[in-house]
Amino acid sequence: MKIHNFSAGPCILPQVVFDKMAEACIDFNHSGTSIMEISHRRKDAVEVMDNARALVKELMNVPDTHDVLFMQGGASLQFPVIAYNLLKEGGKAAYLQTGKWAENAIKEAKRFGDIDVIGSSADNHYNQIPKDYTIPTDVDYFHCTSNNTIFGTQMKSFPQSPVPMVCDMSSDILSREIDVAQFGVIYAGAQKNMGPAGSAVAIVQKDLLGKTGRNIPDYLNYATHLKKESSFNTWPVLAIYGVMLNLQWLKEQGGVPAIAKLNTAKAEMMYAEIDRNGLFQGTAHVDDRSQMNATFKLTQEALKTEFDALLKQAGVDSLNGHRDVGGYRASMYNALPLESVQVLVEVMQHLEQKMG
Ligand SMILES: *Cc1c(COP(=O)(O)O)cnc(C)c1O
Repeated sequence: MKIHNFSAGPCILPQVVFDKMAEACIDFNHSGTSIMEISHRRKDAVEVMDNARALVKELMNVPDTHDVLFMQGGASLQFPVIAYNLLKEGGKAAYLQTGKWAENAIKEAKRFGDIDVIGSSADNHYNQIPKDYTIPTDVDYFHCTSNNTIFGTQMKSFPQSPVPMVCDMSSDILSREIDVAQFGVIYAGAQKNMGPAGSAVAIVQKDLLGKTGRNIPDYLNYATHLKKESSFNTWPVLAIYGVMLNLQWLKEQGGVPAIAKLNTAKAEMMYAEIDRNGLFQGTAHVDDRSQMNATFKLTQEALKTEFDALLKQAGVDSLNGHRDVGGYRASMYNALPLESVQVLVEVMQHLEQKMG
């Protein structure tokens, strides 16, 4: 049976990525060696990293003022790394608190200095994005989360920031067009929309580095990774190969503008059914609904067993909401075909017919 994978992350990837990764595990580039046993400094491994970085630059139109690096530790390691690299000794930073991941980013940054939470939707169970906030001019940077994976909200636009804007784009990077020049740093854990788990990408405005007065450990210093072209130490060759293949696939689809159109079509289809079907209710504020993660719940909790059984029958997988919030969450990352959303919508209609 075909499985329709709505997982919030690690996410669905194109079949061609799985096929080529599987092949490389046995015999990478007809070299007679597995990609898992080769040096990250071998020529064809270096090409993987170079291609992955170049593809991020190309697909996101990264300007010359910025550079791209990969690190391990996921987005969670980026939380302290951001502060380490940008928050001056005795300095201050402003954060927008829009969900659990933003909370974690704030918690880590607080170890390094004064954190001003200038807007928060915590009191509304994070069902919306705060709009009424002012970014102070006396902070080292402003941090926001573009897409709140758990709560299903997304920033539709970004503020004009008087200070460098840092953004956690883990769950919507490469899903829509953005202007990289607007940001001081963009970072993302790979496994939501960019590739398999095992790396994080950071797109860094180069002239922001080296100003904190801190003695940063080499691995946690962005400057190290930029200088060494993301080959400071042993990097996960298989994982980055997966990222590279996924980016190549995205380029073949027509790049970010083309996938953005498809993502909009998927989200419209999904939310149209959530709004039409009386058995379901969306949980995020309509204006702030995420195109990546649609969160919703049953209006009659008693139907859960029935609905879950229908989902299973149709091959709809990983639709459960985050363990902290319950309900359902349809994650519709780049590689999820429109057809999968169609199948989910049909299951929702099937439930309605059965109850009617
Ligand atoms: C998943 C997620 C994270 C954490 O990512 P890890 O790579 O698991 O550390 C951080 N921010 C956002 C927005 C996420 O969706």
